[in-house]
Parts: sequence; C-alpha cells; structure tokens
Amino acid sequence: MARSLGPKCRNCRREGMKLFLKGERCLTEKCSVERRSYPPGEHGRGRIKQSEYLLQLREKQKARRYYGLLEKQFRTYYERAARRSGITGENLLQMLELRLDNVVYRLGFAASRAQARQLVRHGHFHVNGRRVNVPSFQVRPDDVVTIAPKSAAEPVVRDATDLTASVAPWLQADHEGLTAKVLRRPERDEIDTPVQEQLIVELYSK
Ligand code: SF4
Repeated sequence: MARSLGPKCRNCRREGMKLFLKGERCLTEKCSVERRSYPPGEHGRGRIKQSEYLLQLREKQKARRYYGLLEKQFRTYYERAARRSGITGENLLQMLELRLDNVVYRLGFAASRAQARQLVRHGHFHVNGRRVNVPSFQVRPDDVVTIAPKSAAEPVVRDATDLTASVAPWLQADHEGLTAKVLRRPERDEIDTPVQEQLIVELYSK
C-alpha cells in the first residue's frame, strides 16, 4: 500500500510546527523543530511572499502530512467528504480520525501514526474480534479494538501506552488489557488536529 515516505522532521519544519510524526523523539529536545525552527532547504531562512493560495496549500499539506497520506488518497477523502451532508471540512476531519491507524494512535497503542499503520498492516489488531490489516479501515461507534491474541507486538504496544497521557474523549481505552472501544464519532471540538479545514475546502473547491 502506498504511503508517505521521506524525512518526517523535514515535514514539520516545512509546516513550522510539531506534527508529532516520530513518536518518542518528538517529546525530546532532539526534535528538529525545537533545534531549527525555520523551513528546510537553501532558502529556508529567506522571506516567503504570502498569498491566499499559499495559505490554503500549506493547510492542506499540513493535514495530509499529519495523517501520513499521499495527495491522491487525501483528495479522495475530500471528495467523499464533499458528497456527504453536513460541513465538508468537518466531514473530512471526521473520516480521517476514524481511520483504524489513527484510532490505534489516538488510543495510545502506538507511539506515532506511522507505527500504528505498520502494526495494523502486520495484523496486530482486531476489530470486533476479526483481524483487520487495512490502515484506512473506518471504525464505527461501538466497535471494539483489541490487540491480536499472542501478538509479538505486545511489548511495543505497552511501551507506547506508557507514553500516553490521555486518550481522545470519543474513545475508551484499557491500557492494562489492551482493549478499547469507539464510543462515538468525534465532534470537531474533540479533534485536536492543528488545521483550519475551511482553507482546505477552499483550495479544493476552486
Ligand atoms: Fe516533527 Fe517529531 Fe521530528 Fe519534532 S521530532 S520535527 S515533532 S517528527
């Protein structure tokens, strides 16, 4: 399955903020945004002329990188969100949040979305008792997420839970038993993704 590769810290520096793409390292002083808080590249410290388009583009790139998606995948989410009733930007964020890899990360069962994606891909999680190895799988309210029985990844998952201070309010996690439940679909104010989704909608609806 296609996924976003390349230097993760560079993505954070490009967006000018910590996107927490590397797990434990993001919480240390080794974080590149902390050490070099200017954009990467030869002209990183030069002045960039701001425009409406650039603001919209940066917001879209930030969201795409935050969830670790390629342009085509992200655009597909936007198109699906636009077809649904309700506010397109909120629909988009909700669909991204309900991806199984994101849910595993939000539950604290992985140190980063990239790690969550790999754990899911390798079949270490079950949804409602059935193995699901598709990171983009959309979970639904009342779905139960558990680590696979006798999973070799259990120590990694337990280490990740140690790094987790809190779990998103729309999810319920038992870090001792490594089981969890999706309580409801997230409301916009329960999604802490640092993006202005309206700018993404404006970009794509041109
Ligand atoms: Fe981003 Fe984490 Fe790298 Fe810091 S350490 S720049 S938050 S990926």
